[in-house]
Amino acid sequence: MPAHYLITPASRDFPLLTVMSMTDDAVFRLFCLARWPNTEGAPVCDRCNLPATGPHSRRRFRCLNCGRLFTVTSGTALAYLKLPLRLVLILVAQWAIAPKGRAARYLSQSFGLNYRTVFSLCHKLRHAMTSDVVGQQIGGPGVEVEADGCYLGGHVRPTNWVINRRDRRFARNKSDKRWVVVVVRERRPNGRTLVFVVKHERQGAALIAKVVRPGSIIHADSHFAWLELDALYETKRINHEEAYSDGQACTNHAESFFARLRRLEAEHHHIAGPYLLRYATEAAFREDQRRLSAADATYLLLHLALNSKPDREFKNYRDLKRRRRLSGQH
Ligand SMILES: [Zn+2]
Repeated sequence: MPAHYLITPASRDFPLLTVMSMTDDAVFRLFCLARWPNTEGAPVCDRCNLPATGPHSRRRFRCLNCGRLFTVTSGTALAYLKLPLRLVLILVAQWAIAPKGRAARYLSQSFGLNYRTVFSLCHKLRHAMTSDVVGQQIGGPGVEVEADGCYLGGHVRPTNWVINRRDRRFARNKSDKRWVVVVVRERRPNGRTLVFVVKHERQGAALIAKVVRPGSIIHADSHFAWLELDALYETKRINHEEAYSDGQACTNHAESFFARLRRLEAEHHHIAGPYLLRYATEAAFREDQRRLSAADATYLLLHLALNSKPDREFKNYRDLKRRRRLSGQH
């Protein structure tokens, strides 16, 4: 029986030692290539879309048209970072190859960096992953798509004494901090996974209708939340009280995504707060790109980060006053 691809030598093609032994010029060239792949790394001014000259001193480029000086990370999700490029590459590489995500605290301690620096970098990378799926539609005539929802957050801790405990299965005893991650996933090679965060599962069908192309065949469980989809698509339903798959319908691909999301939750401990959509998008990205080699996964993530706009929420994150203003505290 052949070995799984991810344990073959071909997949482990970008170990930490390789990044450590790269020259500064090689690291810089890799960043240029990931930012401007169409010109094979030759700099292009964002504003004029014309070739620029350089690198000049401090590895900056100059646009011959507007005269602007810029660096390889200017105007991207990795702008404003005060870390050496090699260290950014190491963090991106370590983050890209983790199948269940990598906690910021782990990276912070491994590389001796401030926790908030790493935390904001991780969120900038999640922002880059989001930019990959914004406006994307999936499915199409005859393409099978699976839809499902999963509750996260709002854990109600049982009281110490049994006599004081309330039945947590009743809605009145549940926390209002619970959220539903709704997923739609194409069932085909290189299929994409899209996620939404809603308060109730019944809100998911309208969002699904916006991103799944007409003519798709939707597989869903027997929850009433998906009844709306029956009018829009050919649907196949599976009653999970009877079976997980009846040979016709199943949502096992969607369940695989939730399995990864749960494992990601175990790594991060708490994801169902204000950033749940970001974490869910990360899990979807990791699920879709799970068969990439270490080098390909790192390059893809670097390319996305260097071709997405700065993440406004995490720009200058270490500025405490600004953080408080953004979060509504004074
Ligand atoms: Zn210019």
